[in-house]
Amino acid sequence: MTVAGFAVDLGGTKIAVARIVDGVVSARRQRPTQAGADLDGQLQSIGALLEDVNYRRGEPLGVAVAGRVDRDGNWHAVNTATLSAIAAAPLGEALRERFGKHALATNDAAAAALAEYRLGAGQGAYNFAYLTVSTGVGGGLVLGGRLIDSLTGLAGHVGFTSSQLGKDRCGSGRMGTVESVAGGRAIAAAAGMGDAKTVFAGDPQNAAIHRSEQAVAGLIGDLTAILGLDQVAIGGSIGLAPNYIAGVRTHLDQEPALFRPPVVPAGLGNDSGLVGALLHCLEST
Ligand code: ADP
Repeated sequence: MTVAGFAVDLGGTKIAVARIVDGVVSARRQRPTQAGADLDGQLQSIGALLEDVNYRRGEPLGVAVAGRVDRDGNWHAVNTATLSAIAAAPLGEALRERFGKHALATNDAAAAALAEYRLGAGQGAYNFAYLTVSTGVGGGLVLGGRLIDSLTGLAGHVGFTSSQLGKDRCGSGRMGTVESVAGGRAIAAAAGMGDAKTVFAGDPQNAAIHRSEQAVAGLIGDLTAILGLDQVAIGGSIGLAPNYIAGVRTHLDQEPALFRPPVVPAGLGNDSGLVGALLHCLEST
């Protein structure tokens, strides 16, 4: 299959769009996400960015978004603090109306997991998890060669499992989630700074960063107990920050060997969500 077309990756912090040729990003634009924008507002931002990469209506368009996309194509924030105006938004229908029948939406981390499994750090794995440590903590699971999905679109939202380090209620309504300790918003809040990027730039040894690494290591141990993972890839701007994965591995070393799969950086770097969104679209339409 020729992997060519356009893709969008809408996260809690940034929206990226790309033209993809032969599975590789050939043009890319991004802008900050408006966290409080409703479906229409988000689509306007997407449309404006797509114009910049010469997208034309009717061309294949994969759209990966933070939050869950259910079987009917409705989009829901899971952590309501991340995308506050997105609740049962008819994204699938709106995309088809605006961009044509070759536009399809899915969850961002599920898309990235698919891309990493096919073209990146998950190639050849049997049970593979992709984790993104970004504004929140997301995940996608490829088990026995199949990307796990669900009617609700919630499958793979591993950031909403519990962490031993968690004490606060997160925007999902759950207590003590991994996301509430390890995500960018949590790191920034714990360090008393505006965003996680500033925390990393100021002091890479900040305790909030170590707690994030430790929570992600605990998550990997738990997921490995449940799923028998043989490979884990980590992405997201925090996951790919220098020394972050090394920090996760240091904490994971406290686990018995059986619960410690190899943990590697996303092979496609920051492009896995984009490439995976298009793969998902091409394989489903
Ligand atoms: P999104 O959540 O929109 O998918 P990212 O993967 O870029 O986007 O994650 C955003 C989070 O990563 C924010 O909390 C931001 O402060 C943080 N961040 C961005 N760049 C860096 C960096 N170079 N080092 C560490 N953290 C970063």
